[in-house]
Amino acid sequence: MSGEENDNYRPLGMEEAPAHFESASQRARVSTEAWAQRVGCPNCGAITLDRLPNNSPVADLQCATCREEYELKSTKARFGPRVPDGAYATMRQRLLARNNPNLMLLTYDAARNEATDILVIPKHFFVLDLIEPRPPLAPTARRAGWIGCNINIERVPASGRIVLLKNREWTSRQTAREQWDRTLFLRSASLDARGWLLEVMKAVEAIGRPIFNLEEVYAAEAKLQAHFPLNRNVRAKIRQQLQVLRDQGYLEFLGGATYRLKGLASG
Ligand SMILES: [Zn+2]
Repeated sequence: MSGEENDNYRPLGMEEAPAHFESASQRARVSTEAWAQRVGCPNCGAITLDRLPNNSPVADLQCATCREEYELKSTKARFGPRVPDGAYATMRQRLLARNNPNLMLLTYDAARNEATDILVIPKHFFVLDLIEPRPPLAPTARRAGWIGCNINIERVPASGRIVLLKNREWTSRQTAREQWDRTLFLRSASLDARGWLLEVMKAVEAIGRPIFNLEEVYAAEAKLQAHFPLNRNVRAKIRQQLQVLRDQGYLEFLGGATYRLKGLASG
């Protein structure tokens, strides 16, 4: 649904950056950041975001209401499975200190100067696994030896990809907020605990149905063992994670080793 009578609709056209910005990348940055402010805050529902001063170390946008921070990445092509980000060491540090921002990915149509897609990955889906070092810059480069990173967004479970805009169609603010709220419990988990929870969430998603049983989750045993080689009892760990997910309201236990994913339109 779109159209201006709809509260969820936000105009897609981006304004040109002022002429004094000389480089194309600077102009794109100014124009995408200004546009992204009107996306609003999926954490609290505020309808606009504020821009943080340029070169703020942590984020680009912030919600004045709930203080939630967003890092904005934009492309006029299409995001691949790996999104290039800043210095590898800094990203790791932020994650360990748990002050990484949410990641907002904006795709736009440069010919029409219009946004087409917005995906947000909430900060609580970030684990060290997602941050991959890039090869150091060549000795001839201006910043020789500098090591950047990629964020491997393919490793994020589907429940951690909050689609706000897809092919120019807005997701309703309410639906986006429900998806966001559904996984907020991950914020209180340590990075280690989060790693297991995310892998088990992916194993559940791989089954592809809202109602599933324990045996079907056990199908991921070998994969999980490879991911956590030090663990001695993967099946017990799976059961424990399912219990946590149930206690957090992400799953429902139906009895007889059967579970149901909660809060999904299809469920
Ligand atoms: Zn907010």
